[in-house]
Formats: sequence, C-alpha cells, structure tokens
Amino acid sequence: MSEHVRVLFSEEQVRERIAEMGQQISRDYEGKQIHVICALKGGVMFMCDLAKCITVPLTMDFMSVSSYGSGTTSSGIVKIVKDLDESIEGKDVLVVEDIVDTGRTLSHLLGMLQQRNPKSLQLCTLLDKPSGRVVEGIEVAYSGFVIPDCFVVGYGLDYDQRYRNLPFVGILSFED
Ligand code: 5GP
Repeated sequence: MSEHVRVLFSEEQVRERIAEMGQQISRDYEGKQIHVICALKGGVMFMCDLAKCITVPLTMDFMSVSSYGSGTTSSGIVKIVKDLDESIEGKDVLVVEDIVDTGRTLSHLLGMLQQRNPKSLQLCTLLDKPSGRVVEGIEVAYSGFVIPDCFVVGYGLDYDQRYRNLPFVGILSFED
C-alpha cells in the first residue's frame, strides 16, 4: 500500500486565509496584548504564520499534551508533556490549534487553562472538523477552514510524525 496526498488547501489559500484571520484577530484585540499559546507540535506552523499577521502586541508560549491510553479509547484525559513557561493569570489568552476533531483533548486543555485564571480564553484553529465532534460546547472563536470527515496532513499535521513540513493541507489516502 502506498500513501497518496491530494491537495485540499493550497499554500496560497492557506496564506490568504491566515492573513484574513490575523486581521480579524488584530481588530478584535485592539488595545490589548494577546498571549498566544501554541499546542505542539501540530499548531506550530500555523502559529508562526498567524503571529506574523497580527498587529497588536503579542507574547507566545508553548504547551505539549498527550492523551492517556490508546488513540481509539482516548478518554480525553490529557497528560502535560511540556507545560507553559509563564503564568497566564490576568492575560488575554488565545490558544492556537492545528485541528479540532472530537474536541476531547481540547476540552480538557481549555479546562486546565481556565483554572489558571486568564482574563480571557479564546480558541483559534486552522481546521475544524465538526462532523467528528464528540464533546459539545467547544466554542471556536476563529476557524480557518471547516473540513469534511477526512484525514488531513501537512502544514504542521502529521501521519506517524511525517508530512508536517508540507506547505499545504492535503488529504491522505492509501492506495494499492
Ligand atoms: P481531538 O479534537 O479529537 O481531541 O484531537 C485533535 C487532535 O487529533 C489534533 O490536534 C490532531 O493531532 C489529531 N487529529 C485529528 N484529526 C486529524 C487529521 O485529520 N489529521 C491529523 N494529522 N491529525 C488529526
């Protein structure tokens, strides 16, 4: 079986959409400072490009979490692999994700961050797969593209740690 990647959003489409998102975020946060939290590793490309399109003062921090148990039986209980370096208390926090699928990991992550008393906590994702949602009530403030139920790679997203470096978002399929 060989792997095949078909372009879903080209490099140019991704760049244009991120520029729009950056403008919108800059307008919404006018007069404030944003503390951007990137969920590693998948969100890193998006975060770097998005940050360059945001014009209000901005600081960054990184967090890495992993789900307990195997992928199929994930309870959404997440383990912090790398915690934030700085406190988020009193800050306007924007969590930047690569993709929201079931919402399990994210709902736990947002819950943990909320307990640390940020002034505000919003979510920004490049891709949103609403058809996969299991956890209700996750509010996505900024969403780049809504995608159908498919497995995507590229632009930070991996399959077995590969494909993160593709400059576009593609659908991965397996062929004989
Ligand atoms: P969930 O929302 O299901 O808790 O988990 C989201 C995480 O699952 C993402 O951060 C990403 O790592 C992974 N994920 C979900 N859908 C996809 C997909 O289509 N492609 C890739 N590469 N990862 C995905």
